[in-house]
Amino acid sequence: MGREKNEGSESWRGKHYSFYNHKECEFFPCHKTDHPDEFNCLFCYCPLYALKDKCGGNFKYTEKGIKDCSSCMVPHKKDNYGYIMSKYGEIIEVTKLDGEQDEQD
Ligand code: SF4
Repeated sequence: MGREKNEGSESWRGKHYSFYNHKECEFFPCHKTDHPDEFNCLFCYCPLYALKDKCGGNFKYTEKGIKDCSSCMVPHKKDNYGYIMSKYGEIIEVTKLDGEQDEQD
């Protein structure tokens, strides 16, 4: 994939694929910000949610054990595209089938 070639580089900066600002969204901005023009909507549903406490974001766990990301701006900061993409190796690991399921496919 083309994006993998850019992993670890900063070539994503200034590219349209790395930033999407959707001010027409009924929820914009879904997190409080002083910089609405820099608010990235690309990772609206954070791909790092599945990493539990290893996402690197500003989360807390509720009493019921649900991860609450309401105070986190990590996926919405324009400069964090490279960080989010750098975590995909970990996402692949947590979503891999285990050996038993592999044999059934
Ligand atoms: S705390 Fe932030 S980085 Fe972590 S999963 Fe939630 S929104 Fe994503």
